[in-house]
Amino acid sequence: MAGIRGPFLAHAHSAAYSEFVSTDCLFCRIVARSVPATVVHETDTVLAFRDIAPQADTHVLVIPKEHYADAAAMATADPQLAGEVLAVAGEVAKMDGVDATGYRLVFNTGEDGGQTVFHAHCHVLGGRNLTWPPG
Ligand code: 5GP
Ligand code: ZN
Repeated sequence: MAGIRGPFLAHAHSAAYSEFVSTDCLFCRIVARSVPATVVHETDTVLAFRDIAPQADTHVLVIPKEHYADAAAMATADPQLAGEVLAVAGEVAKMDGVDATGYRLVFNTGEDGGQTVFHAHCHVLGGRNLTWPPG
């Protein structure tokens, strides 16, 4: 077993492997609670926590607990999980009271998309009038 420990097991489902959660991925570390975050909602598969540098009154990141590099990779591998991320994003908007006034869900993807953390995450932004087009 020891011989195959490494990146392939780093994001395995089983709790038995949680000790091998990738330490090079910030959001995996937040899932593992080795990096603190202000968690606002959690399910078996999804975690929602406040962005450390909020760009609006409501700025929450909703992530799958399992590691995928971006939203498309997540949706391709596990469409149900992608749906769960979106459903939690909606619940977070409701919890923060921005569902009636409106909010924006953003999945920055790749360099031109402005992605800086390569663990799929949905930004939930609300509480102010968001301009379009984005910068
Ligand atoms: P991206 O630029 O990849 O779309 O979004 C990454 C987001 O993660 C950024 O909005 C950034 O502020 C946030 N972020 C970076 N480091 C941390 C951290 O340690 N904790 C939390 N809660 N958010 C972080
Ligand atoms: Zn990760």
